[in-house]
Amino acid sequence: MGGIHPAENKLTHEVATKVAALPKQAIFPLGQHIGAPAKPVVQKGDKVKVGTMIAEAGGFVSAPIFSSVSGTVFKIDTAIDATGYRKPVIIINVEGDEWEESIDRSDKLELVAAHPELTPEEIVKRVQNAGVVGMGGACFPTFIKLTPPPTAKAECVIINAVECEPYITADYRLMMEHADEILVGLELLMIGAKVTKGYIGIETNKPAAIELLTKKCDEKFNIAGSKFNVEVVPLKQRYPQGGEKQLVDAVINRQVPAPPAIPVNVGAIVQNVGTAFAVYEAVMKNKPLFERYTTVTGKKLQNPGNFLVRMGTPMKDLIDACGGMPEGDNKLLAGGPMMGKALTSVEVPICKGTNSVTIISDDEARRKDAQPCIRCAKCVGVCPMGLEPYLLAKLSEVKNWERAESEDITSCIECGSCQYTCPAYRPLLDNIRLGKSTVMGIIRARAAAKK
Ligand code: SF4
Ligand code: SF4
Repeated sequence: MGGIHPAENKLTHEVATKVAALPKQAIFPLGQHIGAPAKPVVQKGDKVKVGTMIAEAGGFVSAPIFSSVSGTVFKIDTAIDATGYRKPVIIINVEGDEWEESIDRSDKLELVAAHPELTPEEIVKRVQNAGVVGMGGACFPTFIKLTPPPTAKAECVIINAVECEPYITADYRLMMEHADEILVGLELLMIGAKVTKGYIGIETNKPAAIELLTKKCDEKFNIAGSKFNVEVVPLKQRYPQGGEKQLVDAVINRQVPAPPAIPVNVGAIVQNVGTAFAVYEAVMKNKPLFERYTTVTGKKLQNPGNFLVRMGTPMKDLIDACGGMPEGDNKLLAGGPMMGKALTSVEVPICKGTNSVTIISDDEARRKDAQPCIRCAKCVGVCPMGLEPYLLAKLSEVKNWERAESEDITSCIECGSCQYTCPAYRPLLDNIRLGKSTVMGIIRARAAAKK
């Protein structure tokens, strides 16, 4: 349903991943995931190594945070994070690069068959303890997805390798450079979720990844004696096909009902390709989640690229590694141009969900003046959730929260397709986002009052 075809601009598709330099100081926001912020377990002056836990999970829906650097805790303070707000952080001054000895740093590919101790429960526990969250940007703790409520039954794991945002290539590079590890990660996810069927959904603008993963899946899973069957599913290009509900529909042709339903209510557990890699490292290498693949891109950047970057590294370091901020006025985004958040500081650190740092020049970013709605219904036609964006935006403008709730404003996935397509340049997403967060606040307050 719906969807658009934004111009592609994958400038870094064929740029091999480089290891980013260590920062001088690393900044770790305590809320890098959906759920309760993590709670610090270190104090000013403490020495830490790469892989030391610096904050524990702050509740059931939460995740621990691990240092990506060795050094001394400088302070526990607040700083602007990728949400654009000032939030609690732990700041560490970097000294050397000393890793926790428990982490296996070898390149040797570990296979599940050599580890009979890996029961579903053991896998889920290791994933939880390593702080793994969804790496596509949603940052939902992965262990929770692997243990669905008793009312739902998982039937398959779907790997989201769509990467439909127009500029981002980090997942593509990961697939081309670490396909074997991703497939072991998928196997672990299938064991953890107690299913034997897997899918990898990839858009057809990545033919090399489709070919490579199809070949490797046929060699690894789809052979006599293997209990797992994994299909690589080529998908036509369409934004926002990387949304969970859109992907489930495209891959297994099942429609996830409106919230609070989630993909597992129709049998699917969706995990990003970067999450599969993080699960491999967590379970097989005892490596907590403290670094990730990130694209740094923009048409005016001298050398856009893909980086393996330690979390906590300020975005400025990566931009400098790409030739520095282009001259003139630029818009800095955490994420891609469709769903990314505009930032006011280049000091914002790379976090678990930062799949891209995108720089858009002023002339590309400048918005045209909004005109009156011409009732063309284009926004309705492209909405992947079947909503009426012009109406939701209006209800939000006039603060009619009751009607906005009844019109399902909370189902909006904030993909921006409506705003992108509007010929009257109406700020639809801005208004809908505001209305959605207000209505969600009202729903939470109502639920709390009932308790
Ligand atoms: S931003 Fe929301 S309302 Fe607009 S097209 Fe996307 S899902 Fe629909
Ligand atoms: S696309 Fe824009 S002009 Fe057309 S109906 Fe929607 S809000 Fe109105």
